[in-house]
Amino acid sequence: MDLSYIINQLGEERSNYYNAISPPIVKTSNFCFNTVQKLRNNLDREFNVPFYTRGYNPTVAILRKKIAALENAEDSLVTSSGCAAISSAVIANIKAGDHIICINSVYGWTNTLFNIILKKFKVTTTMVEGTTVSEFEKAILPNTKLIYLESPSSFTFDIQDIEQIALLAKKHNILTILDNSYSTPLFQSPLKMGIDIVVHSASKYLNGHSDIVAGVICSNRKLIKKIFSTELMTFGGVITPDDAWLMIRGLRTLPIRMERITESTQKVVSFLESHPKIEKVIYPFSKTHPQYLLAKKQMQNSGGMFSIIIKTEDINKVDLFCNTLKRFLIACSWGGFESLIYPAAVLYNGKKKEKPRLPFNLIRMYIGLEDADILINDIENALRVL
Ligand SMILES: *Cc1c(COP(=O)(O)O)cnc(C)c1O
Repeated sequence: MDLSYIINQLGEERSNYYNAISPPIVKTSNFCFNTVQKLRNNLDREFNVPFYTRGYNPTVAILRKKIAALENAEDSLVTSSGCAAISSAVIANIKAGDHIICINSVYGWTNTLFNIILKKFKVTTTMVEGTTVSEFEKAILPNTKLIYLESPSSFTFDIQDIEQIALLAKKHNILTILDNSYSTPLFQSPLKMGIDIVVHSASKYLNGHSDIVAGVICSNRKLIKKIFSTELMTFGGVITPDDAWLMIRGLRTLPIRMERITESTQKVVSFLESHPKIEKVIYPFSKTHPQYLLAKKQMQNSGGMFSIIIKTEDINKVDLFCNTLKRFLIACSWGGFESLIYPAAVLYNGKKKEKPRLPFNLIRMYIGLEDADILINDIENALRVL
């Protein structure tokens, strides 16, 4: 199925709604039946038929088809946040006494899931650097049920050898989940490389306009049905029809947004790499990335996010540099139309007992849809404060 078809046509049964080009937002919580027998027939079929919107909604159903096709999956689920997708997919596949292996640089709230929440339910997790396959092999225990990956991870952009780790997991009958938010389905296809379940924070690129929080889960029909009929329906973290409609609209431009963003990012990265006030640029498709060859092998392209380490001994200079930028907004998140900056210096607030994992002079940058030359000028100007 070609990309244009998925984005413009798949799932859109226009003759069912006045041949409208844009699909309706089916804004209803429930659906009625004209006989009790029909209600009875559909009671256990909430996965497939309109019954109650927590289970099935026609607007969300269009989106589910598109997301599944983009990730080369048999089916998908769309959730109220990336975290709802991650926690539902994980908890549906483990029980007390199980063991998980996860990477150190994983998204913060995913770390909380493994090291705080699941610990309460007697599930243990070994955290590994994740840059070599042997680390995973060494961490495997008789009760290991899940390997959780995020490649590349945000902030440090560590990369895991997806194909080899998936092979290792299969050999030991261990399930694999990968957070593919950074790459989008366009730049990395984890299911084709042997991963069992792919999750995304759709708040980032998939929606792409910084106006909703949402997540997706992609896998084979059996695993999707299992997650749906256990954790997803019970925890209830489902997307609203309104937000599903916005994501359908966001997806229409996913390929052109990604094309523009990667082109601009490469220009900005090249500029930064040759700037004397920059100590280091951490970007998967940069030749100086320690896993550059692996990145090139398993990713078709690299997204618009990277980190820089600026040459300074003074944390106040980090603040000053960020405050001086005019075209980059100071904010968390990424994947929208707007360029953003998020300095690790925010972690140095004197309240935390542990020393932050990231150096104070590391700054995460996200390149949006603005003109690359304007962004470069802005950075060049702000670097003068150092
Ligand atoms: C933002 C993010 C999440 C969490 O997603 P939400 O939609 O904010 O719940 C998970 N993983 C990665 C890599 C993220 O960037």
